[in-house]
Amino acid sequence: MLRDPILDGLNDRQKEAVLHFESPLLVLAGAGSGKTKVITHKIMYLVKSLGIPIHRILAITFTNKAAEEMKERVEKALGERPQWVMTFHSFAAKFLRFEAEKVGYDRNFVIYDEDDSKKLIKKVLKDLNLNEELIKPDKVKDYISKIKQEDNPEEYLDLLSFSVPHIRNIYEKYEEDLKNSNAFDFDDLLVKSVKILKNNPEILQRWQNKFDYILVDEYQDTNKVQHQLLKLLVGSRNTITVVGDPAQCIYTWRGAHPENILDFEKDFPGTKIIKLERNYRSTKKILDAANAVISKSKGKWKSKLLTLWTEKEEGEEIRLVALSNEKEEASFIARKIKELSSATDYKDFAILVRMSFLTRNLEEAMMLNSIPYQIVGGLKFYERAEVKDILSYLRLALNPKDYASFERSLTTPPRGIGEKGLEVIKSNFVDNWIEALKKSLPHFNQKVKSSIKEYLDLMDYVIENANLNPSKVVKHIFEKIKYEEYLQKEYSKDWEDRVANINELIVALEEIEKSGKTLTEFLEESSLSQAQDNLEDTNKVKIMTVHAAKGLEFNTVFVAGLEDGIFPSGRSFDDPTQLEEERRLFYVAITRAKERLFLTYAKERKSFGNKSVPTKLSQFLKDIKEHVKSQSTSKSASPQHTAVKYKTNKPSDGEIEAGMLVKHQVFGKGVVKSVIGKNAKVLFEKHGEKTIHIDFLEKV
Ligand code: ATP
Ligand code: MG
Repeated sequence: MLRDPILDGLNDRQKEAVLHFESPLLVLAGAGSGKTKVITHKIMYLVKSLGIPIHRILAITFTNKAAEEMKERVEKALGERPQWVMTFHSFAAKFLRFEAEKVGYDRNFVIYDEDDSKKLIKKVLKDLNLNEELIKPDKVKDYISKIKQEDNPEEYLDLLSFSVPHIRNIYEKYEEDLKNSNAFDFDDLLVKSVKILKNNPEILQRWQNKFDYILVDEYQDTNKVQHQLLKLLVGSRNTITVVGDPAQCIYTWRGAHPENILDFEKDFPGTKIIKLERNYRSTKKILDAANAVISKSKGKWKSKLLTLWTEKEEGEEIRLVALSNEKEEASFIARKIKELSSATDYKDFAILVRMSFLTRNLEEAMMLNSIPYQIVGGLKFYERAEVKDILSYLRLALNPKDYASFERSLTTPPRGIGEKGLEVIKSNFVDNWIEALKKSLPHFNQKVKSSIKEYLDLMDYVIENANLNPSKVVKHIFEKIKYEEYLQKEYSKDWEDRVANINELIVALEEIEKSGKTLTEFLEESSLSQAQDNLEDTNKVKIMTVHAAKGLEFNTVFVAGLEDGIFPSGRSFDDPTQLEEERRLFYVAITRAKERLFLTYAKERKSFGNKSVPTKLSQFLKDIKEHVKSQSTSKSASPQHTAVKYKTNKPSDGEIEAGMLVKHQVFGKGVVKSVIGKNAKVLFEKHGEKTIHIDFLEKV
């Protein structure tokens, strides 16, 4: 094999993957086996050893965060910042900026996020005189998304029309309004890009010629349209490497199509498959548990499953901890983190949950224990109402066809237009807000007319200055519409936070003014921001859903709420394919851990109506019985839970005293120097002096 510094630190299979160019390449590999590493190193190899300019390499990642990380690594190695390392959606948005005119859009199009799309759907339902109660906008959004992603939307629409009345009318009107707004929704970005490439051979050729090599991470979670896009871009060449792990496919509910990876060879003939089975991330104990979980997988995944091995040591036991209720669970996790944090940084901890509602108690416990923490995901900055309110003025200024931004800016703050007035304006909206307002004006009384006049004046100012000085424009809007007063009235509890968010927005805009980015570029990035984006590198414990933890790794991981109905979710009980996906999700959760893994559950949990009800242990825990050590912190472990009592081996008199020789699960042997309340100061043989809660000490 070639000697090349870029290949140093890779194992033989990884090297082979980096060096393979004779045919399309699929790297099939388990969690933590270095798939992402292979992609990064292959980019470096292409540039440094083969002399391909970095701008001729396209690398697709699953999240913006992953793209950012990859860019940084490549930049560090090559001294040059790659332009084409991005998510599918960002790629499509960039592509459309060049080519949107081909499908009748102008290049200043806006991107509608979920919330904008739903607003538009509500408008469509109103226009068609359909009752929102009978046809839920959320459901309609799902249908529309499905229709768009189908190979043959017309056929699918025919089929769907049998079971969902009016869906054709709704879909067609939605598409028409979207186009009139010069807007693309998230699905459109990809679907329209594929359409352009398919129907315009000269454009296809131009874009094929643009890239000498394409690499894709997390391939198991691509959807059909993304697969098509790649096929088009690669054409009949061999210039593609994709990596993925079928066992980590966790987005089928959002359209991920695992056949893309399972049958990759069909669409890319002559594909070479390289398997990586050595895991570099986790201790042996963690890995054994992960293997035990995934080996119970059924169906089409089975044949592609890989068993991971590692040369790492056995490591610490995996702890399964039963707590009496959800508050206790959160407080156990907080105490444990506090205890372990004397030896390691807060940023090395992650708490993973299946559902985001579980984060509230955890958050509370972190605060009570003064542990710095961060909720990753949740509402993204650019999805916050106040940020969207203000940005709607800017978006409308750039694109007069954007109905969603028009309605939002016109009615925030309310200008006395009312539901009926809005109906009139809506019905007059064809493809330009100024026209619509002009036509509707006679309908309004003098007072409303004058507030509309103020809106028009304000918009004049915004249109004139938005591109030149967006931060100044935001300050101007903020004052003119008396936004602070509005926030105080609307959100009496947290209006100050919201004002702070607008300040943050102004800071962001000042930054783009300095960087030379255009406002259009900024707005595009803001609409494509994702849950992982606010993952700070600061020294904080991260709390997040398992979905958001994809691709990441942490020293110590807590998986909380391991109860049937939560993990796996209740919805999966009568749907075997969904239950399979939950299993893969559990596998993803476990494999985020490098050194230490805690699994916790509450024996009782408050459910709807604020009543505590007994829970049932997650069925997945059966599969890793032999790999975990059970503990229970409460005195009355219910028989349903086989957990052993936690720390029953306290000294018989229940006291820890100064001078006593004690043992700690992590820090080993030590001597107690003093005890204050429930805390003991202990001098450990190997770890020095620490303060530890006495429940965690054992008399030797
Ligand atoms: P996931 O499936 O979770 O996305 P992955 O297969 O992409 O995982 P990476 O994130 O690339 O795995 O690598 C996991 C860890 O193992 C990283 O910390 C990485 O630096 C390390 N690693 C990968 N390959 C090697 C190697 N050959 N030698 C040493 N460490 C390695
Ligand atoms: Mg990875």
